This record gives sequence, structure tokens and C-alpha cells, in this order.
Amino acid sequence: EHAPAPGAHRQADGHLVPLLANVGGAKDAVAAAGLNAQGVGLFRTEFCFLERDTEPTVEEQAAAYQGVFDAFPGKKVVLRTLDAGADKPLPFLTDATEPNPALGVRGYRTDFTTPGVLERQLQAIALAEKASEADVWVMAPMISTAEEAARFASLCAAAGIKTPGVMVEVPSAALTAEAILREVGFASLGTNDLTQYAMAADRQLGPLAALNTPWQPAVLRLVGLTVEGSAAEGHNKPVGVCGEAAADPALAVVLTGLGVTTLSMTARSIAAVAAVLKTVTLAEARELAKLALSAPSATEARAWVRAKLPVLEDLGL
Ligand code: PEP
Ligand code: MG
Repeated sequence: EHAPAPGAHRQADGHLVPLLANVGGAKDAVAAAGLNAQGVGLFRTEFCFLERDTEPTVEEQAAAYQGVFDAFPGKKVVLRTLDAGADKPLPFLTDATEPNPALGVRGYRTDFTTPGVLERQLQAIALAEKASEADVWVMAPMISTAEEAARFASLCAAAGIKTPGVMVEVPSAALTAEAILREVGFASLGTNDLTQYAMAADRQLGPLAALNTPWQPAVLRLVGLTVEGSAAEGHNKPVGVCGEAAADPALAVVLTGLGVTTLSMTARSIAAVAAVLKTVTLAEARELAKLALSAPSATEARAWVRAKLPVLEDLGL
């Protein structure tokens, strides 16, 4: 017997904040649906093909994508096109001899050196979408300029994909969010990479962990700038967060206060984030966002916000 779905996630004043899941394939998606995810906010498609040294066929890809779409009929599924490189090498796309892989040909940039793979992936996504009932949105990783966003949108349109978007994980994208969001329908902040690039601190290096936290006021400011860009000239395009930051219940409150509209996380964090979000109003979240932005350090930003949220201690978070 399944417990009845508790339904949509809200703040204390009724403001809706859909909590979505990060998934790597159908198995994760089915589990996420059982944990009350309202959809998928990040489908990391490269996880379907990590062990491959040749490009998967369009049919193989369509089958893998449909497995995820079918877990969320009628719900939003945000699929990310292949994000190969640095911490996620795919032999058919990336060059293992680059001196600085995190700054190299990765994410969307592999289209510069291996043209065709992205177009075939978009074809596969369109095929899978036709055969499913999910509301499919498609975003490109590592977008750095409005030109790249425009080109990605035109490739999506050519493939028949209706809702193209970008990940904001390079500081240049946050700083030019207004121009970027003129080209595409939505943005999703990848705070893991946004933090590593804003702080120039490799996300895989333990000794840099104190720099590499999304509580850094510099990172929070980039989140705020992205939301401002999305609201400019009445665009009002959705801006989500799909990095690990969204799974930290205190930071999740701050992100909603900065104007982020959806949060996507590992499905096992949804219950805790929902439990804390429902205790604060949007106005309170905005105050906490201001407090965090005014802090002189990541440590203080986190401590100051947590001190205002005693519910965290009540819940053992
Ligand atoms: C991110 O960078 O925050 C993100 C969600 O993508 P990944 O962790 O897969 O790089
Ligand atoms: Mg990333």
C-alpha cells in the first residue's frame, strides 16, 4: 500500500514552492515519485551512458529518457543535455588530456568539437516526449553567453522541443541573465558548479571545502542577480535551483527568499526541506535572504540564518 501523496509543497502563507528531484535514470525517477517529488528538476542524462565509449543511438537514448518521463505523467521533467567533462568524462565526447578540464570543453561546449551529438540527443528527447505524457523541459549545461543560449534555443526549436532553457553555473551567465533569458524559457541554477567557478575552488578538493559552499555571500549574490535578470522587462521566466544547495533546508528558505521558484534535490532530502519551508512565509524568507546577503562570510551567513530558524533544531536538522 502506498501512502496517499501529501501533494504540493507550500510555505506558511500558501506560497507554492514545487520540490523536484534530481535523477540519473528511470530507477531514481520511480523512487522520487514515491517520495513526493512534484516532478524532476534535473535529469542528468550523462548518467545513463557513463560506461559507454561510443555514442548511444537515438533509439537507445529515447528508451532511456522515456523511462524517466513515464514516472511523471502530467508532471514537469527537466532534462539536461549531456554534461560531459571534468568530473564526468564521456570517452565519446571529451578529451582526457586537457590541462584544465573544469575550464575546458565540457557541457554544452562539446558541441563545438563534436558537432551532431547534441542534435541527435534532441531528436531522441523529442521522440521520447511524443511517446510520453510528461511536460518535458530541456536545458543545456555550462552556458556562458546569450549567443550560446540563442543557438541552443534554435536547435531545440528545430527538433520540435517547446521549452528550452539553460543552466546557470558559470558566473558570466548569472551576470548576463537578462540577455540569456531573452533567448530561452527558463533557467536552473547549478549551484555546485556556480560555487566552484565563483570561488575558483575545485569542487572535488577537500582542502577547499570552506571556500566551496553555496552559503558564500558571493554565490548568493549571483543567485539574486539571476532572478533579477529573469524579472527584467517583465520576462518573469522561472528560475530554479538544482544544485546541492536546494537540499539544505536552511539554504532552501534563503533561496526562495531570493526569488527562486522551484527547488530540485536528491529525493531523500525532499521531506526535510518541505518540513522547514512550510514553517516560513515568503516575506520571512525574504528577510532571511537579506540577512544572509549582508553577512561578511559564509560561516556567518549560515549561522545567522540558522539562528532565526529554531525549527531546524526541533527537527534535528
Ligand atoms: C550543479 O553544477 O550544481 C549541477 C546541478 O550539476 P552537476 O552537479 O551535475 O554538475
Ligand atoms: Mg554542474
